[in-house]
Amino acid sequence: MEYDAIICFETHVELKTETKLFCGCRVAYDIPPNTEICPVCTGQPGALPVLNRKAVEYAIRAGVALDCTINSRSRFARKNYFYPDLPKGYQISQYELPFCENGYLEITGDDGKPYLVGIKRIHLEEDAGKLVHSSDSFDDADYSLVDYNRSSVPLLEIVGDHEKNPLRSIQEARAYLEKLRQILRYIGISDCKMEKGQLRCDVNLSIRPKGTTTFNNRTEVKNMSSFRFMMEALEYEMNRQAEILESGGSIEQETLLFDEIKRITLPMRSKEDAPDYRYFPDPDLLEVDLDDKFIADIKNALPELPHQRVQKIMDVYDIPRDDALILTKDRDISDYFTACVLHCQDPKRLSHWIIKELFRLLKEASAAIKECPIEPENCAELVNLVSQGKVTAGIGREILDDMFKTGEAPNTIIDKKGLKPIQDENRLETLLDEVMDENPEVVSQIEEGNLKPIDFLVGQVMRKSKGKANPKSVIKLIHRKLNP
Ligand SMILES: [Zn+2]
Repeated sequence: MEYDAIICFETHVELKTETKLFCGCRVAYDIPPNTEICPVCTGQPGALPVLNRKAVEYAIRAGVALDCTINSRSRFARKNYFYPDLPKGYQISQYELPFCENGYLEITGDDGKPYLVGIKRIHLEEDAGKLVHSSDSFDDADYSLVDYNRSSVPLLEIVGDHEKNPLRSIQEARAYLEKLRQILRYIGISDCKMEKGQLRCDVNLSIRPKGTTTFNNRTEVKNMSSFRFMMEALEYEMNRQAEILESGGSIEQETLLFDEIKRITLPMRSKEDAPDYRYFPDPDLLEVDLDDKFIADIKNALPELPHQRVQKIMDVYDIPRDDALILTKDRDISDYFTACVLHCQDPKRLSHWIIKELFRLLKEASAAIKECPIEPENCAELVNLVSQGKVTAGIGREILDDMFKTGEAPNTIIDKKGLKPIQDENRLETLLDEVMDENPEVVSQIEEGNLKPIDFLVGQVMRKSKGKANPKSVIKLIHRKLNP
């Protein structure tokens, strides 16, 4: 039997604020354990939380980018559970009145059409600390240590909508997560590095026979930390559920873990419901009233989103959609292109040179675009020189390689290496004469009206000139001399 999947994500994103959500400790990675902690984030009696304004701003920014309704009043709640990395015995989260609700994210569905994936809510909460188990460090002793550096780092939880436009396949799940990560990076609220735990997700999955509309019980796979494991876990879980249904069984509603070594999902606990956490409004924090101006300011300052940039690149610069998608995949690349194109007379050629030549150089150097030593103005200038026929494409590539090594401007390299094209027509004519002498049969073919071998002659002149002849001038000269 064939099945439809119903998939929805709960995504946790660590915000890149300077300080934690309720205290002045820094948000920092790769620092010695328990060095960014204080009475508030270690839950000392009597310590009181103070809300980080920037984190609220970031939450609203995400809400605006994902087309949510922004609630003018919201509230923090205590989510009660015990775990050694949670010193207060509760996590400050949101339950009723989250900051943002009812949004959507557009992806390209499996059918190739745009599909609006429902987002139920976006709320702000604090992260827990981290347990470090001795088994992780190959130590013989059996103990666990707690590092509270991460305790109270702001987390944004983005909850997909199980009923309103959920994801329908594993491919769509991937597209959703990629798009979400891209947008969150564009709006500058998180680096979303999965390997650093800055983007983690729980995935809910249920299946139903193709074409039916009933909802079966769903399972939740917790804490996926890479795209690959997410895809594998979903694939495994889909097959597991299908087998159970086909043998007449029913799906337990439960929380699973994906065993990354055995590549299977394993039960973790029966899925808890909201009542298990005894949510109640946090009496230490006031409700948050957002005035219209605060929200409007965030809306007005929202950076261009990826799909807006794609449209602009297509409309303004007449660049094909596939190339526009490549140029906007990453905000840094898109910023680089935008900075170049301001100085460039030939945006299409520029896009081609960035995608083909610059990406090649970056790949060879395993460098990110941010580390690219070529200033955008210089990159644009080189493309202009090629467009104007002042250097040939071949020489242009050579110059680009040099620019990448030295960071110098194209004209500096041209002067230094004597790469100026041959402007002198007499010199060009001499070269052409030599080539014609060497290839009399080609010359007579052209004289008889066969234009095909002209390319051959041009190629020979280019070779003799070491790429410094301008092919257009050579063609002109051939026509003048041979009059075909
Ligand atoms: Zn602190």
